[in-house]
Amino acid sequence: MNALTILSDGKWLPASSGETLEMIDPSDGREFARIARGTAVDIARAVNSARRAFEGHWSKVPGVERGRFLAKIAESIRVHAEELASLEARDTGKPLKQARVDVTVAARYFEFYAGAADKIHGEALPFLPEYQVIAIREPYGVTGHIIPWNYPLQMGARTMAATLAAGNTLVLKPAEEACLSIVRLAEIALAAGLPPDVLNLVTGLGEEAGAALAAHPDIDHVSFTGSPEVGTLVQQAAAKRNAGCTMELGGKSPQIVFADADVDAAVPIIVNAITQNAGQTCSAGSRLLIERRAYDSVVGAVVELFTKLRVGPALADLDCGPLISATQKKRVEGFLAKAAEDGIPALARAAFANDLPAGGFYVAPTLYGPVPQSNRLASEEVFGPVLSAIPFTDEAEAIRIGNATAYGLTAGVWTENGGRQLRVAKGLKCGQVFINNYGAGGGVELPFGGMKRSGYGREKGMEALQHLTTLKTIVVKHG
Ligand code: NAD
Repeated sequence: MNALTILSDGKWLPASSGETLEMIDPSDGREFARIARGTAVDIARAVNSARRAFEGHWSKVPGVERGRFLAKIAESIRVHAEELASLEARDTGKPLKQARVDVTVAARYFEFYAGAADKIHGEALPFLPEYQVIAIREPYGVTGHIIPWNYPLQMGARTMAATLAAGNTLVLKPAEEACLSIVRLAEIALAAGLPPDVLNLVTGLGEEAGAALAAHPDIDHVSFTGSPEVGTLVQQAAAKRNAGCTMELGGKSPQIVFADADVDAAVPIIVNAITQNAGQTCSAGSRLLIERRAYDSVVGAVVELFTKLRVGPALADLDCGPLISATQKKRVEGFLAKAAEDGIPALARAAFANDLPAGGFYVAPTLYGPVPQSNRLASEEVFGPVLSAIPFTDEAEAIRIGNATAYGLTAGVWTENGGRQLRVAKGLKCGQVFINNYGAGGGVELPFGGMKRSGYGREKGMEALQHLTTLKTIVVKHG
């Protein structure tokens, strides 16, 4: 089969090698499509296309017009919403209702950055009396983007829309496990009128196409979302030419519940924060820190909800779908087996739907507790539906445990005490803190990114534009 999933110079092409990769449906483990296995040759062609587009025309297109292209894409995503949602659900295994949210958020990214494209301004700086200094923001030129498989549409849309708004052209390398919605999104963008060569896309393996993109000498900036280990490789490749990067890496985010919290409001959100996308979310709330005197009642409420969850195929649209792949399932099951070996009590397990397809990659959401700080479940990112309950005694200990991992992406704090809300938020070393809520439904407008091992730079909101542009200072002596 000739998989035409590489977009270069506005043309859909097979891999130059002619090779393809199979796409597996996580709900039944069967092949349902193929993509082109792009390599360094295809990356080089895509980068050349993006460079010609930038130098040839895109760098002269004013912000207001770039914004109009993005607005049309947003509109077109909404027209194709159901088609995109089914594709995303099938490709990633997530329940259809979650995929529908992803489509809504993807459209919002294009809408948000459509409005932002003509509002990227610099500043006038005070200097000596006979001078005027201005600092203007300019696009980098050609940006490279490497995204993971867990939210292809949301992440593809957020990085694509922001970089085009900033005035760059791009080459995108989606994940080999799930990328069909991104291919379709690119088709939709072109059909909506986006000049075809500004958006270039190469499907393929991380160690081939991804590595070639990170290492390409003509990529001016790299936005990477994925694991900390691969993030390091990408930075090393970019460092060889001193190109800047934005790194959105993993997390081990705490949900911190104080005894005065509104537990009825908190618990459904806490459960959703670890079961959404089967826990394969960088900002999953995977540690549940509970004030000791409320431990039993909060755990009891979480157990009740966990046991009501149903796990099944994406299109059955239950609470939780399969994991992305056999590899991911094996990895998560490794954590479960080690927890049993370490004697960590499993407090609740969600149930599988009847007649689960045999080859699917299903793992039941599981709640463990109390999990000692020394156990790997308290510190390592599982990237699956596994929640670790951990008791704490007071505010200071909550902050200490909250910060006691290598990661620092997001956190949830549940308390009615206003002073404590801010003290804890300020004490936590992470990029986003949610007080009495979590996740902000995609949070298109809200700067997002990590501290520590979770990365640096920010995506989303106006802040993303600061990271996708560079600053030029112009010093004028007017006498
Ligand atoms: P991964 O790092 O294996 O893959 C991510 C992307 O990198 C894929 O497109 C892959 O093809 C590519 N890649 C793999 N090897 C490469 C190489 N040598 N050079 C260049 N590119 C390469 O991550 P994953 O397993 O797909 O995703 C899971 C991880 O991503 C988790 O750690 C999760 O927390 C993190 N994540 C972070 C965010 C965030 O915004 N902070 C969002 C989603 C996922």
